[in-house]
Amino acid sequence: MLPPFSAATRTAALAELAEAPVDVLVLGGGITGAGVARDAAMRGFRTALVERTDFACGTSGRSSRLIHGGLRYLEHGAFRLVHEATAERRILLRIAPHLVWPQAFLFPVFAGGRLPRWQLAAGMWLYDALASFRNVERHRWLSKRSMLRAEPRLRAEGLLGGARYFDAQCDDARLTLANARAAHRHGALVATYTEARGFDVAAGRIRAVRLADRVTGDEFLARASIVVNATGPWSDEFRGDGERLLLLSKGAHVVVPRTRLGLSHAVTLLSPLDGRVMFALPWGDLSYVGTTETGFEGSLDSVSASADDVVYLLRSANAIFPDARLQPDDVIATWAGVRPLMRPPNGRSAGAASREHLIIERPGMISVVGGKLTTYRRMARDVVDHAAAALHAFDGRALASRPPTDREPLPGGETADLDAIALETEQEGLAAPVARRLVRRYGSEAPAIARLAAADPAMAQPVAPGGSALRAELLHAAQREMVVTLCDLLVRRTHVFYETPGHAAGQALALAVLVAPELGWDQARCRREAEAYRAYVAAEEAFREHLP
Ligand SMILES: Cc1cc2nc3c(=O)[nH]c(=O)nc-3n(C[C@H](O)[C@H](O)[C@H](O)COP(=O)(O)OP(=O)(O)OC[C@H]3O[C@@H](n4cnc5c(N)ncnc54)[C@H](O)[C@@H]3O)c2cc1C
Repeated sequence: MLPPFSAATRTAALAELAEAPVDVLVLGGGITGAGVARDAAMRGFRTALVERTDFACGTSGRSSRLIHGGLRYLEHGAFRLVHEATAERRILLRIAPHLVWPQAFLFPVFAGGRLPRWQLAAGMWLYDALASFRNVERHRWLSKRSMLRAEPRLRAEGLLGGARYFDAQCDDARLTLANARAAHRHGALVATYTEARGFDVAAGRIRAVRLADRVTGDEFLARASIVVNATGPWSDEFRGDGERLLLLSKGAHVVVPRTRLGLSHAVTLLSPLDGRVMFALPWGDLSYVGTTETGFEGSLDSVSASADDVVYLLRSANAIFPDARLQPDDVIATWAGVRPLMRPPNGRSAGAASREHLIIERPGMISVVGGKLTTYRRMARDVVDHAAAALHAFDGRALASRPPTDREPLPGGETADLDAIALETEQEGLAAPVARRLVRRYGSEAPAIARLAAADPAMAQPVAPGGSALRAELLHAAQREMVVTLCDLLVRRTHVFYETPGHAAGQALALAVLVAPELGWDQARCRREAEAYRAYVAAEEAFREHLP
């Protein structure tokens, strides 16, 4: 039987990678790298995936969490991208129904706004058509009265009506994790906290990558027939050809209590400050508002929302939801990421930059740049098509056919009947809303978490006051989700950082102690982990010191 996907699995994977060569070595555990590893492993290639920090610690855990056609790309005439993205939306809703779910959106139109009513109506029709009229529902046009009935906190002044349409929302970090786990299930060697630091080149071809285990400090050469560079925003630095293919653009979000905005729907809005398309999205008892789009030049290792970002987002939201009167004190958490966009020609803006992807080959290495979360599976398929052709040219092996990445469920998505799993979870002794929340996050694995809670009443307790995550979730993640640090656990596996007032910083040491037996941490390690988590929180909260 396959061992659980844990920190111990990571150690074993690194030992194996140091010993024997692989066919495909993927660098970067964002959605692109995880998707490539899944596809390559499903084709039967001996595959490895290494990530220098944690899965989704880069852009893939800092997105707007939308699996969407991309209504706004219609303005740039990117019809092919929108068509592809809507097809991917359909696939992801099917293979990961717990991580990607349909979401109803309202798009209000105001008198004097940048987008006239006729243009939005035409855009909505086109959006449905590009999805081959196979979206969850077709869009509907709502009068002003119906809009206000649907979202009573919307600004009534100047409201002309608007559209109701469907897109999908997702858990970006856990979707990335699910792809990495799927790769592991198909035999891939997977290791986080493993950094690629250089290449071994012979006769002009990359033969091996120098990897550093950031836990032990050990370095070794991993031999591979093909290396895939899926390092997202880092890829220009990493390719080493000196070319700047990427335009880095930062986007920030703020999390606020849901009650302040209402939000029985998601709302697409045009910021009254500059006309940019933005979203206000529901997330359990919370909502988040995003995103900004500003040029980025700093260190990719510390990207966070600035005071200006926060003020801009709150002012934009307040202009559309005037009763909300959101202030910086209402902000529970923020996040920001850097888009790895393909540089548009003639110095055009990041908003106009293509969300399509580009594959660049040199002997022994395939680099992929650009793309978006929504289209990751298709992008991964393209990359592995190139890898298969390169392997065929390299050692004459048969071309592997494309695997059913569009049909095989991702871990936790094995059944579409989420209501039945919720019932099973409830039968383990959890309240219905708690069971439903667990199913949304863990799919078919939710009953296993409920059993951990049933076995020990302390595990049924929330991680921290005001937060929704249970202690049993921490245990489950430590056992089965390759947790190496407390940040992995509280930021990307359970979202405690984003969803708990005060980020559970005061509980950090107790939480480290809770999972210590699973992870083999002694007291000193627990203290270091708690300190590192508190330092992360402090960096993300630094915007408060610069507010006007
Ligand atoms: C604010 C914002 C909102 C967005 N919203 C959406 C959205 O709603 N929907 C959508 O479809 N798309 C969205 N996107 C785009 C989408 O998030 C990205 O296109 C996607 O996540 C990029 O994934 P990636 O794997 O290529 O890059 P990343 O997720 O950044 O992954 C690259 C990984 O490589 C690792 N790495 C770097 N160097 C090394 C090394 N030397 N060795 C090993 N590993 C290394 C990094 O640690 C990182 O984890 C958004 C982007 C941003 C910034």
